[in-house]
Amino acid sequence: MASGDRYSGGCGCGTVKIAVDRSAEPMVQLWCHCSDCRVYYKLPIVPLVLWQEGLGSVFQIVQGEDKLAKTLMDSSGKTQRYFCRECGEPVYSIVGGNILATRPTPILDFPFKPQLHLYYKERKMQLHDGLPKYSDMPASSGGSDKKLSETGEPL
Ligand SMILES: [Zn+2]
Ligand SMILES: [Zn+2]
Repeated sequence: MASGDRYSGGCGCGTVKIAVDRSAEPMVQLWCHCSDCRVYYKLPIVPLVLWQEGLGSVFQIVQGEDKLAKTLMDSSGKTQRYFCRECGEPVYSIVGGNILATRPTPILDFPFKPQLHLYYKERKMQLHDGLPKYSDMPASSGGSDKKLSETGEPL
């Protein structure tokens, strides 16, 4: 596949290089406020892009697969997080066995367009962006489907 057909990126030190098909539509793009993401990424809120087709189809590891390591951190038992052993930067995660999640930041030319917020009940900062804010997750993802206002009141 020509490189122009793919978004390309990788970890901070350049050891791991990744690519995402430009034609592939993400399942959802979101801000996650959950404590696991905050601890792992060391950010108050985390931008995530979820891909249903996962590793090998829309998302490829172009270089440095042998330098990826899996963290032991997994409070839910459902998420495997992979990072570069050389620079420590998170590269991608597998959620619930088949959904691949990555931050848009390792894919610098990816046009991040967030659609909603997850785990707003665990937020450390409020956002006033007009996007839906789920207390945890939508029912379709096994959550309570409850939504909160931007200031955290139940809707
Ligand atoms: Zn999260
Ligand atoms: Zn690296």
